[in-house]
Amino acid sequence: MPLTTPTGPRVPNELGRIPIVEWHQVVTVDGTYKVSRERFRAELRELHARGYVPVNLSELLDKTMDVPAGKSPVLLTFDDASPSQFRYLERNGRLVVDPTSAVGMLLDFVAAHPDWKAKGLFCLMPAAEAGHAFFGDKGIDGQQTAWRFKKVQFLVQQGFELCNHTLWHAKLSKYSDAVVQEQLARGAMAIDSAVPGYRVRGLALPYGLWPKNRALAIQGSWYDAKDKRTVRYQHDAVLEVSGGPARSPFDPAFNPTSLPRVPLQGGTSLSITLDQMDKPGAWARYVSDGNPKTVAKP
Ligand SMILES: [Zn+2]
Repeated sequence: MPLTTPTGPRVPNELGRIPIVEWHQVVTVDGTYKVSRERFRAELRELHARGYVPVNLSELLDKTMDVPAGKSPVLLTFDDASPSQFRYLERNGRLVVDPTSAVGMLLDFVAAHPDWKAKGLFCLMPAAEAGHAFFGDKGIDGQQTAWRFKKVQFLVQQGFELCNHTLWHAKLSKYSDAVVQEQLARGAMAIDSAVPGYRVRGLALPYGLWPKNRALAIQGSWYDAKDKRTVRYQHDAVLEVSGGPARSPFDPAFNPTSLPRVPLQGGTSLSITLDQMDKPGAWARYVSDGNPKTVAKP
């Protein structure tokens, strides 16, 4: 693995950039919106070896990231809720996490590296096609519809966070305000059904496309005619699909409603982004001083 990280101690810089890395399907070979399992494991190893430590979106937004001195935060994000990310296997009448799904590989990695905790953001659709419905339904990839809520609950129990990725991955740019609000309200409502009272703080825009009325990505409401009630949603953060590493929440120009990400798929390279972050300049990495109460400036 190419490693260009300086071996000496890194100088604290809590105004530096934070990579929000983004995976979609984790399968057999790299492709559009796909990485191989070997590559996924290698990317986890590389982040760890270069001194990155996973944080959660809420810690980033609330400025409560607790990262050891000399280390850097990374936010791991997973879009589209496919079985390749989280698959169950039935073993002797019990459900176990498939160790070859992304969640299985990540949990194994965390278990083997005690300086990492199970943190990261899963951006979910509850009702998309082809198994992209809370990690699989209707027998697709061996996944049963009845397992969906259990998977979402399991992620929260482990320490991961959940994010809205619409009802069924609608291109928000081409729909009316009413449809946009239905997509986002029902996406949030489905998470609340799986984990009652869960506060959904992030929205990942499908394809990075904004609704015509951008304000509706942040908040809105939809009338649920079946239950005769108005469902409101409010997102503190909106995640784009690309744009490089994000600004530190301590940077005055930090904008949580437009967070760029580092997409990882065929044709992209994590190493190139991390190499650039190890150089001085606009993308220089966030390096913790180890004290969450102070902000170390370069
Ligand atoms: Zn997506």
